[in-house]
This record gives sequence, structure tokens and C-alpha cells, in this order.
Amino acid sequence: MIRLEGVTVRYPNGVVGLDNVDLEIPDGQFVVVVGLSGAGKSTLIRTINGLVPITTGSLTVDGAEVSGASKREMRAIRSRVGMIFQSFNLVKRTSVMNNVMMGQLHAIPGYRSMVGAWTKEEKERAYLALERVGIVEKTWTRASQLSGGQQQRVAIARALAQDPSVMLADEPVASLDPPTAQMVMKDLQRINRDLGITTIVNLHFLDLARQFGDRVIGMRDGTVVFDGPGSEADDAVFESIYGRSLTAEDTLPGRA
Ligand code: ADP
Ligand code: MG
Repeated sequence: MIRLEGVTVRYPNGVVGLDNVDLEIPDGQFVVVVGLSGAGKSTLIRTINGLVPITTGSLTVDGAEVSGASKREMRAIRSRVGMIFQSFNLVKRTSVMNNVMMGQLHAIPGYRSMVGAWTKEEKERAYLALERVGIVEKTWTRASQLSGGQQQRVAIARALAQDPSVMLADEPVASLDPPTAQMVMKDLQRINRDLGITTIVNLHFLDLARQFGDRVIGMRDGTVVFDGPGSEADDAVFESIYGRSLTAEDTLPGRA
């Protein structure tokens, strides 16, 4: 369970990223967050992961208070949270396997020389994760050889290999073409359904938000302006979230 109570995030330059946000996200939910650029979607995700400090309010992940957590407590929280970004953040010159192993925290320093030091469990988790996203046959391929969709799947596998209880994805399909965006969203949904991992996905595109959001959270100016099932998120709702009429770009998934 992720709980935000009156969370305000003010960046050092004075800009408010989150403005008094109350949210409860129960275990296992698949949540899509939508809103214009600057609405606070990334801030929400970075705050939950402890990457951005809270100015006021309270945030707990599985009952553990994130604000005021020590470095050690923060590491424990973060190790249970998988992060996926718009750009896939892969090391292109090395193998898919190496990239997945980097997600298993203690494998990070000097990963190149640590191939022999990986435990059997770590390797198994990596293979399982790659199987889940359907690219296990690419395990020893260089990341640079993969398509954008495949690279994003490696990024998902890397997050998954950490054995997370929460997956946070910040516009994971923004740089993919529409069919590939659909497939990546389906991967995330299947993982959520099969493993019960609480999943929060930031999206810009209405079609995907409606299709995949068991729950859609609409953000505007750092506040939550809509919170309901995807089926209730009609055009009028989106216009209120976006503060303007919809355009073709809003309904075409996968455009950057
Ligand atoms: P979104 O992801 O919905 O586009 P963000 O969470 O990135 O929105 O941004 C919310 C607000 O916070 C915006 O006004 C943005 O300019 C500001 N912001 C985001 N990151 C920073 C930062 N590191 N420093 C200062 N202001 C920031
Ligand atoms: Mg963002």
C-alpha cells in the first residue's frame, strides 16, 4: 500500500511539483497517471521512489515512512521499487544479461568483472524476468542490437529481476510507435496481473490510459483533478485534466 497524505513537493527553485496530494494506492493495483507536461506526473513517481524529498506531508510505502527515512531504510524501500523510464537507460555496448543484472543492486559496482560472481538465484531471476517479457532468446545479445520496444522490455526485465513489490514507469511508451507501445503496456499489465505487483504508469495518451488504467489519476498543476476507472475517463474528463480541447495527438498512443 502506497499512501500520500497532504504531500507537497517544492523544488529548490520554488516551483511546486506536488500540491497537497492525498492518494491511497492498494497493493496490486494498475494505475495510470495522465496530465499535460508539467502536471506533476514525474514528481509523483520520483517522490514515491524517494528520489525527491517531500516538503510537507507524509508518504508511506508498505507502512514505512519515506520522508525522514535513513539512507539504509531508503535503500530497503528502493530495492522493492522497480523504475522504468521513457529512455531505456541501457548500457548499449554490453549484453542484455549484463543490463538486467545491473538492476540487482549489489551487482552494480564493477559489473563487468562480476559475471562470475553472480549467484545462481540472481541469474535465475534474470532469465525468468527476460522470459516474462518474451526476449529470453536475446539474453546474450548486445543491447545496441535491439529495437526500441525490445530495449524497453529489457528495462522492464531489469526492474522485475529486483523482485519488486511496486513498479513505477515514467512515460515508458512515449518514444515507441503505437503498436509497440501497446505491446509494452500489455507486458506491464500481464506482469501486474500475474505477480500482483502494484504498478503506476505515467502516460500522455488517452487511448492507452482508458484501455489499461484500472484506475486513472488525472493531474494538473501538481494536484489530482480526476481519480476513477479508465471506463469513466471520457473526453470531457480528459479536457478537464488537460485544460483544453483534445487534439489528434492526444489520442494517438506512442508519439513522443
Ligand atoms: P510531468 O512529469 O507531469 O511533466 P513534472 O513532475 O516533471 O511534470 O513537473 C512538475 C513541475 O515541477 C513543473 O512545473 C516542472 O517544471 C517542475 N520541476 C520538475 N522537476 C524539477 C526540478 N528538478 N527542479 C525544479 N522544478 C522541477
Ligand atoms: Mg514527466
